[in-house]
Parts: sequence; structure tokens; C-alpha cells
Amino acid sequence: MGLLTSALTGARDLLGARRDPRRTAWPDVTPAAAPRRVACCICGWSGPGFQGVAHCESSTCPACGSIARDRFLYHCFVRRTQWRPGLRVLETSPRLGADYREAMARRVDYLCSDYDQRAHRGAISVDLQAIEMADASLDVVLSAHVLEHVPDTDRALSELHRVLKPGGHLFLQVPLLQGGTAPPAEPEYHGDRTLVYWRFGWDLTARIREHGFACTALVTRDLYRRARGGDPGWPSVSPEFDVEEILRMVRPGDLTPVATDRVARRARFEPSYMFVTWHASKAG
Ligand SMILES: [Zn+2]
Repeated sequence: MGLLTSALTGARDLLGARRDPRRTAWPDVTPAAAPRRVACCICGWSGPGFQGVAHCESSTCPACGSIARDRFLYHCFVRRTQWRPGLRVLETSPRLGADYREAMARRVDYLCSDYDQRAHRGAISVDLQAIEMADASLDVVLSAHVLEHVPDTDRALSELHRVLKPGGHLFLQVPLLQGGTAPPAEPEYHGDRTLVYWRFGWDLTARIREHGFACTALVTRDLYRRARGGDPGWPSVSPEFDVEEILRMVRPGDLTPVATDRVARRARFEPSYMFVTWHASKAG
């Protein structure tokens, strides 16, 4: 790429980032008093700290209620896709409520779904194993902590591939508590009383590729460094995560860093072993 072309592309990217409505603050959100050490990429709030502890299920934003893994999913979506008017996005069982869903509807052409209407209130009902949507009808699917509750992973992945447009993207989060995929040893339920069929590991990347997607696991720069042989230890490890096995079984070539240390610190994507989002793209 020539120098001028690359400078022009850079300028266009900057302009695009500024115009991207996914990066604008919610209208009713005002930053807290200084020091503003942390910032929420979903609602735009910033302040001295989030609520709770450093954990993917905590570090809660006082303005929008997002927890750290909500922000990591959103960060991955914004970083890895180009915004354009009418971007058609389906989110399966979003954890956040009406304010979030309304904000998303202002930013993109937003649909959200629930398989089980008891657990969350969504706009439509979708069973990932038989999605009632036309082929090639979506630009983006955001799916957090749903796939582990679906019995047939392959049917779900092939349905997700079918409903995405060529060039479309799937951002997938599941709890990564161990190195390799296995069913739970004993019946396991999550907070909303839904049964867990699978505890996934790094082999999910290869499984996703078998369905025709290009796939990488998005992580923070800190986890990327440790996966490539950096310091394996964290000051403390949550007992439900088998971090030793997670680091032993990781394939560094399957990882892509998407958050610098500074970005991860501001959004509290910490500790880094808790933050993985699979990015699956359908060929254009
Ligand atoms: Zn927020």
C-alpha cells in the first residue's frame, strides 16, 4: 500500500470511528466526578471505578448495569466490524434490559431473541438449533452464554452460518472454564435455571471452522502474551476456572488480541483469562 493511500485509509478510519453511533454515549449518561479511571464502552459512563470485584460476571457499570463480559463482547463487536446504516444485528438473550435494547435499536437495526421467554424478555423467540429466519438475513449475531445451554452444538453452528449474510459476523461467548470441551460431570444450572449441556474448551475454534466459518478467539493483549509463553501466573485465580489447563491447551495461533493493556484496564477486562470471544466470519 502506498504512503498516500495508507494515510487516506487511516483518515477514513478515524472519520468512520467518530461517526460510528456505537461509540457515542447514551443521552442520559453523565460521567462521575474525577478521577475517571474506568469507562464503559456500552453507555459511555466513566468514573473512579466499577462496582464489585475484578471478575467477568462483576465490575458492574453503575449507569447501564453492564458487567465486564458484556463490555468485552460489545468491544469485540465494535472493533471487528464496520458500522453502516441499517446494519442488521441479532442478539440472543441479551442480559441487559430495556434501556440497553433501546440504545442498540438507535445504533443498528436491532433484533433480540430468547429461546425461553421465562428467563428474559426478548422481542422474538429463537431456538439456535432451528432459527426461524431466512437464509443470509443478518449482518451480525451477538450470542453470549447461550450455546452451552443448547444440546446440539453442530446444528446451532450450521444454523448460525445459514442465517448470516456472506461477509457476516458471529461474536460468540461461552464460559471458558477448562481447556477442552466436555459435558458437565454432574447436572449444572446457571443463574436463570437453564441446564448446561456443554462446558466448552479451545477446540470450539476448530468446531466453528468445520461449519465453514473463518474463526479466531479474541482476547486481551495480556492473555495473548501469557498464551505465547509469558508469565503463566495471575495473583489469584477463581476456583471455577482451570487456568493451568486453559493455558496448557491454548493454541496461540488461534488467538487475536483486541484490547491493549490500557484499554483492558479502563474497561476492567480483568483477570484476562476470563475474557474470550469467538469471532466467526462467513466468507464474503
Ligand atoms: Zn455502562
